[in-house]
This record gives sequence, C-alpha cells and structure tokens, in this order.
Amino acid sequence: MLNSFIPVEKNSHFPIQNLPYGAFITEGGEIHLCSAIGEYVVDLCVLDEAGLFDGELLADRFVFQDSTLNYFMSLGKAAWQEARNTLTNLLRDDNPVLRDDDLLRARVFVPMEDAEMVLPVEIGDYTDFYSSEQHAYNVGCMFRDPENALMPNWKHLPVGYHGRASSIVISGTDIHRPQGQTIPADSDQPVFGDSRLVDFELEVGFFTGPGNELGEPVSVDNAEEHIFGMVLVNDWSARDIQKWEYQPLGPFLAKNWATSISPWIVTLEALAPFRIDMLVQDPEVLPYLNQKNRSTFDINLEVYLDADGLEEPHRLATSNYKYMYWSMAQQLAHQTITGCNVKPGDMYASGTISGNDESAYGSMLELTWKGTNPVQLANGEERTFIKDGDNIIMTGYAENKDYRIGFGVVEGKILPSK
Ligand code: MN
Repeated sequence: MLNSFIPVEKNSHFPIQNLPYGAFITEGGEIHLCSAIGEYVVDLCVLDEAGLFDGELLADRFVFQDSTLNYFMSLGKAAWQEARNTLTNLLRDDNPVLRDDDLLRARVFVPMEDAEMVLPVEIGDYTDFYSSEQHAYNVGCMFRDPENALMPNWKHLPVGYHGRASSIVISGTDIHRPQGQTIPADSDQPVFGDSRLVDFELEVGFFTGPGNELGEPVSVDNAEEHIFGMVLVNDWSARDIQKWEYQPLGPFLAKNWATSISPWIVTLEALAPFRIDMLVQDPEVLPYLNQKNRSTFDINLEVYLDADGLEEPHRLATSNYKYMYWSMAQQLAHQTITGCNVKPGDMYASGTISGNDESAYGSMLELTWKGTNPVQLANGEERTFIKDGDNIIMTGYAENKDYRIGFGVVEGKILPSK
C-alpha cells in the first residue's frame, strides 16, 4: 500500500490516498491553496512556486498560485489527474525530493491546528436539490398525508431550487439567528421577529469544473466529467419563515441566510474505491435522465449537537450519502437540460439526506417529528429545534480496511439575532 513520509494515523481523514483541496491563511496573511495529509496542511502555492507541478498540463500555468481553485477546476479531469499524480509522488515515502529537503519541508507543511481555513472557491451559483426519498417522504407525511407523501413529480425529476451563493460560509463561521415574517398557529396575520424553528440539514454537495455553453445541455452519461469534487453541507433552514413564504414559488428567505460547507473538497478520484451501484429506478425515467451504470459513493455521515453543559457533543444522527434516489450526474443533466449554463466553481447540494430508520434522519424537523418528540440531552435539557449557543457539527468519511477518505468537519454555532 502507498504510504507517505508524513505519519498518518489509521483513523485520519487525510491519508495520501485522499489529497483534498482547500485554502488557508498563511502566517504572512496571504490566502494559499492547499491540500491535507495527516495532521498537516500542504501549501500548494509553495510547491507551485518551487516549480514542482512540472507535468505536461500544469507546468508554467501557476494554477496553485491563485487564491481560489476556480481556474484549476476549469481545466478538467486530465489536469486534475496530473496534479494528483504529482502530489502523490511528492508525498510518498520513497521519493526524496520533498522528504529530504528540510528548507522546503518547513515551508510546505503547516500544522492543521495553526491553519485558518477559508472558502477555496469563488462560488458563482448554488442549487439545492431534494433527492433523498426518505426525507421527501417524511416531510410529505408531516405536511400532507402518508398516502400522498411524495409529490407526483418526485420520481420523474430531481426536484431542486436555485439557492443563494453569497451566504455560503466556511466551517467554523458563527451564524446569527435570522428574523423574518412568520404566521402564528392561531392567526391569519403574520408577525415579525426571530425565527423560532431554526434547523440544520445534513447534505453533501459537489462542485462543477468545466462548464457548458449556454443552450447546450450536459448529457447524463458525460456529466461526471464536469464534477470536480464533493464537500459536506449544512443547509441551515428557518422552518417557520419557510412555512409562511414558500407558496407558490418555493423556498426564499428561509434558506438564504447561511449555508455552511466543510473546508476540504474531496475529489471523485479519491472517492473512486467507494463507488457503489444505485438501485434501478421505478418508474423508469425519461431518456435525458436515464443514466447507464448509475452509481454513488458509500460515505458515512454523522451529526452532533454541542451546547453549554454537555461533556461531549450529543450525536443526533448517523446517515450515509448512499441513501440518494438521484445521482449527481442526473442532477447535473437535469439542471442543464433547458440549456442552463453551469460554470467552474458552481455548487450543488444533495438535499437533506435521511436513511430509513429514525436514527438516520438528517434534520431536527424529522428527528423530533415536527417538534412533537424532543431530543433529550445529557445535561437535562431537551431540543425540538436549535437554540442560541448550539454548535452543530457534521462529519463524513468513506472507509475500507486500509484507510479513510474523510471530509473533516463542517460546524457552525447559532448566535442570537442581530
Ligand atoms: Mn436543503
């Protein structure tokens, strides 16, 4: 098995087989693109300046001297593979180039605990899908009835809406409780004030690399060529604002105030050993969505709540990315079928991911069944939705007998409204 000269613990999210992409602030206050190995950030800007990305496609392109990944993402799969091969070679235990160069090593490796991560992508557009059947079913049961839980369109197209890119924030960013209009249960007149039903949504997102020309859809069987990598997403939601505003045009302010993502973008190449087939869809979908060999990834997901007075974070849910009805390729083919153009650095989230049993539900709405079944915490408190001061922590990783490919964490604390 491939090993690095940098020690990596067995349970680390960042073995040499991962090599995700991110960005951090250097001691000198600059934003540098980076990767991760073991407990270290790998400064890609320093490696690029040293001329070590010397392959056919990346030599003299200075792609890692940018402060965002957008240009690198735009270059496509061959360039991504070349960068991965170069980085793998530089980090492996039998290559002396970096291993034995003490001066370069001191500049390239930064302890993760000292590195402040920032968004590594300038995100142009953001789409949020709704592609977990159990989640759509649960919401349908709560707000309509179990007999007609799924809307008639749900198994024919990946339902989604255009979200807000400007409020996507990096893990660790505190978030103020939103205010807005809500409708009291016993009234037909709205009131203004704090959202009282702030919730998380456990999601996984992906970023597009090369885009398509306006008017030219991406075909479903070619769609993965456009996908650069994946992140964990907490798609914060204000359920009470949503309830009053959403008809007839869908979510608006309930979803535009914050979306948190993990700092590391994990590539599809790193996740390749964890690919699993998806079930045959019934009913059969229309030809533009009919993907040959539909597959997804087996990624374990967990959500924790941390609050004052808890000795350790309380685990709220354990789920998996494999519980998706629609694949990323189908989502992207659907997004572009009208001719909509996507661009390098656009982001797409899965929709809340819920598995079949109650411990796998991906939102407080479902875990507490609309607030009727509160979560009990070890400090004697209970929760229906999220309180001020609560920190929501999500983590995710794929694993086999040899290593884990992880995303790190995405966390965010809810502060009082402004
Ligand atoms: Mn969502």
